[in-house]
Amino acid sequence: MSERKVVKKVQGMATQDGAGVSLKRILGQPALRNLDPFLMLDEFGSDNPGEYIAGFPEHPHRGFQTVTYMLEGKMRHQDSAGNSGVIQSGGIQWMNAGRGIIHSEMPEQTEGLMRGFQLWINLPASEKMSAPGYQDIPASQVPELTLDNGVSVKVLAGEFDQIKGPVSTQSVKPLFYDLAFSEDAEQVIDLPIEHQCFCYCYEGCIEIVGEPIVQGELAVFSKGNKLRVKGNAGARLIVLAARPIGEPVVQYGPFVMNTEAEIHQAMMDYRSGRLVG
Ligand code: MN
Repeated sequence: MSERKVVKKVQGMATQDGAGVSLKRILGQPALRNLDPFLMLDEFGSDNPGEYIAGFPEHPHRGFQTVTYMLEGKMRHQDSAGNSGVIQSGGIQWMNAGRGIIHSEMPEQTEGLMRGFQLWINLPASEKMSAPGYQDIPASQVPELTLDNGVSVKVLAGEFDQIKGPVSTQSVKPLFYDLAFSEDAEQVIDLPIEHQCFCYCYEGCIEIVGEPIVQGELAVFSKGNKLRVKGNAGARLIVLAARPIGEPVVQYGPFVMNTEAEIHQAMMDYRSGRLVG
């Protein structure tokens, strides 16, 4: 057994994206540029409509996958492949931008709390130009286990205790769990030994092998097949793991490819209307 330890901790940076949505960029900022294969993690959370109402109007993507996980609120998604739907509290959307997609994500509410995460996950070169697609998964399709120690686990992607999450994408074998501690407890999570893994504590505080991680901190872990999380009552965190890709990453805004030439191609394709279709 090899236990994972904390190798780095970072806090999010306040910024804006879309047409002016206030958010915290936790991954994909100077303190943590990327974490192969993870490219970005944003947390949004506000009950002030002025901070979210402008939403994310139409914009393109190529070369990776975007994930929106809503904790609270409603967001309408629409894309160039003809998909549309409303992502609601507890629901998750997993989109493969592949060779190209143009989409928008706009609040489907004018007041109240909107809270959640957006995550970008890279694709290997062999899948960057794959067909775009997405999975819209309502909360009712996300298995939630309540363990004897009072820890509840939502299994969004991958397997936990032989319970399979609904996300079907396989390119980097992602695991995505949302954990909530109802009392002080310890929870051991089995992980593929070579997967990249991080957690983000979004309420309360936890401890990993003696290292405290408080609300608003992301912790990057060493390799290993076990993650031992000590949580205080009320702690909530997301745990992400995926197989590293190990290829060059060239990113220009919403395009993430392997070479400069491929980025130029993506920009030309977008300008000339050939990114999608
Ligand atoms: Mn997007």
